[in-house]
Amino acid sequence: GGSKRLVVVSNRLPVALSNEGGRWVIKPGGGGLVTALAPVLKNRGGLWIGWSGAKGEVDIVDPLAEFSREAGYSLHPVYLTEEEVAGYYHGFSNEVIWPLFHDFQSRCNFNPTYWRSYLDANLKFAEVVVRFSRDSDYIWVHDYHLMHLAFMLRNMGVPRSCGFFLHIPFPPPDIFLKLPWRAKIVRSLLEYDLVGFQTGRDRSNFISCLRALLPEASISGRGNEVRVTLLGRTSRLGAFPISIDFNAFANMASSGEVAQKTKDFRDALRQRKILLGVDRLDYTKGIPQRIEAIRQLLIKFPDLRERFSFVQLAVPSREEIPEYNALKIEIERLVGEVNGQFAQPGWVPIQYLYRSLPRADLVAYYRAADIALVTPLRDGMNLVAKEYCASNVSETGVLILSEFAGAAGQLQKNGAKLVNPHDVEGVAKVIHKAFHTDIADHRRNMHRLRDSIRKADIFWWVDSFLQNAFSRHLNDFPPL
Ligand code: UDP
Repeated sequence: GGSKRLVVVSNRLPVALSNEGGRWVIKPGGGGLVTALAPVLKNRGGLWIGWSGAKGEVDIVDPLAEFSREAGYSLHPVYLTEEEVAGYYHGFSNEVIWPLFHDFQSRCNFNPTYWRSYLDANLKFAEVVVRFSRDSDYIWVHDYHLMHLAFMLRNMGVPRSCGFFLHIPFPPPDIFLKLPWRAKIVRSLLEYDLVGFQTGRDRSNFISCLRALLPEASISGRGNEVRVTLLGRTSRLGAFPISIDFNAFANMASSGEVAQKTKDFRDALRQRKILLGVDRLDYTKGIPQRIEAIRQLLIKFPDLRERFSFVQLAVPSREEIPEYNALKIEIERLVGEVNGQFAQPGWVPIQYLYRSLPRADLVAYYRAADIALVTPLRDGMNLVAKEYCASNVSETGVLILSEFAGAAGQLQKNGAKLVNPHDVEGVAKVIHKAFHTDIADHRRNMHRLRDSIRKADIFWWVDSFLQNAFSRHLNDFPPL
């Protein structure tokens, strides 16, 4: 039939794969993006293409087929060898693009073999896309691992409509121009019909890089109507701030199970004020700076000693990369140092958790926390900031948010307190002020924050991207 379908492509399939006694078992992945895309894929009879997470050719055809039957859309795996995982994924994606795009140029490893591996892997993904899609499908590619996919499709002479969404920031020219493969990357991004960024800032950084690298490109329009024309091809550039399944968090936070866990946490911490940090253990998240800010808080405001507990949850991440292990050691040293400096009988200022938590425990921490410290040095959006607000059903919490998180622009005007995470004394002062602010102010701010996130949730986000993507094919794609 000629029905139009949506083909989603991402580095990872939206499932968790595990080997149980020699047999591969597939469990659904839990993220908000999957939740929001699943109904769209189901209604359109769509498909999702991505790497399974395993190395080499693993036999997952049967479990994937079974999963696809139940989900109502199909999953198609891309198989990557151990060398490809090392070069394309750990190498180019996570040791070049990840640090550079988050402004950490000094942490980049510009290894030319990584680049070749990135191109090979993007070709591999493109081949799976060609095999399972039709000309009439819309291909929606996600994130920095797959910036070259549309270029590979064009090279194969495949005329699919393609959109791309970058989940991480796009850096300004003085940083991006350090990349040895800079011109190839901007050129490839323009092979997409629509390129989506998290914020207007990311889009304008991309435009500045275009002007520097491709002066022959013609750029017109404003906001989500920006168009770039190069060699007769036109791409559109949009900003679409990603979000969360607000109601899922709010409902879980209101459940009896989470209410009980929240009470247990608060009792265990002796009803002291709770400050909370939740991050993957990553150098972009500003965890050492946040611990320094807590130290400053204890030095400058001795009245607060023994009055709060700072709970820092660090979720293990990218342990194959040496930088991450070094950061873990640094954080452990700092936690030990600050606790050693200030602990009293019955009170330790920092409760440090290095693990991943079940969802109900995470939501209970969100609900229990009086202040969330979301202070990344740079972040595409930061979903933890939004999840905290959604889960704060008492509406008495305070969101202290880095001005370098993508979420800052959207949440500042609705009541988040913005800070510069490098200014540890400044962060300490903002925390101290929150302790001494009238609760009515906190309620007003948290209520506005929650309203704004409820309206712009992940379903809204999927709709805005797809409406924009399909607006030039309105006759082909009926409204969602
Ligand atoms: N998270 C998780 N396990 C945990 C704690 C948190 O999976 O034990 C989730 C959290 O709910 C959030 C995500 O990790 O959805 C972090 O997203 P964010 O945008 O804040 O940062 P990223 O890790 O994508 O850089």
